[in-house]
Amino acid sequence: MAVPKKKVSKSRRNMRRSHDALKAGAHVECPNCGELKRPHHLCSACGHYDGREVVATAKPA
Ligand SMILES: [Zn+2]
Repeated sequence: MAVPKKKVSKSRRNMRRSHDALKAGAHVECPNCGELKRPHHLCSACGHYDGREVVATAKPA
């Protein structure tokens, strides 16, 4: 097994982790109901996509 020769310093460890931060996912406002939805995805709140209802919802917004 490969074993590190030297202890990695806090500085070097933190430099390695400088790219590890998570970014928030992309969201856009639904043009039908205004709820936030993922781009290019069906709206989970009103079931609309591309200006028409694709999936029937219990209570239309
Ligand atoms: Zn919607």
